[in-house]
Amino acid sequence: MTLLTVPINVSNPNEAITDIKAAAKAGAQAIELRLDYLPAESYSQTPSLVQAVLKEELIAIATCRANWEGGHFSGNEQERVKLLKMAADAGCQYIDIECKALENDSTIFQPLFKLAKIIVSYHDFHNKPNSLAEICQRIKRHEPDIVKIAYMPTSMNDCFEAFELMRELGPKGIILAMGQVGLPSRILAKKFESFLTFASLESGKESAPGQITIQEIKKIYRWDAINPQTKVYGVIGDPVGHSMSPHIHNGCFGDIKFNGVYLLFQVAGNWDTFSAFFDGINERPWLDFCGFSITIPHKEHALQYVEESSGTLETLAKRIGAVNTLILNNEKISGFNTDYGGALDAVIKTLNISHDELKGLSVAIIGAGGVARALIAGFVDCQCRVTIYNRTVEKAQILADEFNCQAKSLEQANELSADILVNCTSVGMSPNIDAMPVVSNCIKSNMVVFDTIYNPLETKLLKDAIGKQCQCVDGAEMFVYQAARQFKLNTEKDANLALMRDIVIEKLQS
Ligand code: NAP
Repeated sequence: MTLLTVPINVSNPNEAITDIKAAAKAGAQAIELRLDYLPAESYSQTPSLVQAVLKEELIAIATCRANWEGGHFSGNEQERVKLLKMAADAGCQYIDIECKALENDSTIFQPLFKLAKIIVSYHDFHNKPNSLAEICQRIKRHEPDIVKIAYMPTSMNDCFEAFELMRELGPKGIILAMGQVGLPSRILAKKFESFLTFASLESGKESAPGQITIQEIKKIYRWDAINPQTKVYGVIGDPVGHSMSPHIHNGCFGDIKFNGVYLLFQVAGNWDTFSAFFDGINERPWLDFCGFSITIPHKEHALQYVEESSGTLETLAKRIGAVNTLILNNEKISGFNTDYGGALDAVIKTLNISHDELKGLSVAIIGAGGVARALIAGFVDCQCRVTIYNRTVEKAQILADEFNCQAKSLEQANELSADILVNCTSVGMSPNIDAMPVVSNCIKSNMVVFDTIYNPLETKLLKDAIGKQCQCVDGAEMFVYQAARQFKLNTEKDANLALMRDIVIEKLQS
């Protein structure tokens, strides 16, 4: 069992006791008492803090982190040992001691080894040490019960060594990559049956960078459902911090009780880092990494990776030149593009027609960027008659030549006539919510008006279209349907669309 551990890092002992109770209520299984946050006049409260933890039937871990290791304690080692001994005498089961402190003078800490189980820890808040295995060996020389290493990765590729150590040490290890990049190590601690992972009681009470709250780890990442068999999915991009995908996919995994967890993989925006990440995964099939959503700037890299690995590529994904979904199955890689399919699904579900019935309809696409390209490919594939209107008409012309459709300037959109009008530009997106990609009087009441923008949900374009009784499709629908297609590729099951949409709307409004 991996202990979900809340650090208590406040200076007021009364607040600490309130936080211990709140952590127990939130589902913590262990408490790390950060004694280095206490002012000297409160040291005598240490036993009552330990008692408060034990009263909640939680495991107590005492840490008095020295300031030279990123903590707050500036006293001498005798004082530190005295404080930790007070915690152990009160019944604290685990004591954390820095590897460097033992390397300086282990004898002074020896009495503690007889009183509690010992976590020997190593921290680097700025870098990844050259070799985690070497640090592990240094720690093991002190015969700890638990090895703890926490470091700062610069890229997801810095996390593979952590995963290896987590796998090797199991319940005898705590290996944490910190910061946003390292988040997967905090969640996958449960899969690798590490001794513990940390989660803060609330935002602002983190004891290290990248720690998420206990509510987030339990609700978004379904901590309680993770086990060694859990398959791993995630979104790869740079940046990925604000992605809605973990909320959507984990929520829907939970809905069908699928044994998977969906994470954020921040992979720096170049081909070398992207391909090294996938090489790293391929070398470690035991990671159980199975499926990925791919976002900016890696959609072209994903396509290149599939081609170079002789994987399977969806025909239209190749034509679009972008892969937004990668599936790994028995070391075979397959690439898909669910953006165009999601957009087509959103349209046909709104119109209550089949894909075949799109044939022959006229479609005006406003924009000639990445999203426009995917939608043009999709509509052309359905034999729609597509006209592209773009500010930079040359870009529209290049797309038109490639996909055998028409190109026009944005000004010509004033007189456009089409069955379906799609905005694929960023015009109208928050904060410029009053902007229109086309003039309002080109919207006719018999049109289907589709805005790919989902922030805001109801753009000025859609407001005007609703005013003219048009059938409308918003960007959230497209987002939900493309995610539903990814969900099906990941799980081979249909997604709960209503739940997906509810999650998207909740996230957009938060
Ligand atoms: P992109 O590649 O940067 O293309 C942007 C397009 O917008 C270009 O055609 C550009 O015209 C046009 N544009 C930008 N500013 C303009 C302005 N002031 N006036 C006229 N045209 C302007 O972007 P993208 O990746 O295709 O994304 C486009 C939009 O799609 C995003 O803003 C986002 O809201 C939406 N989106 C939706 C989803 C979803 O699932 N619903 C997913 C991804 C994106 P030029 O060629 O002249 O520069």
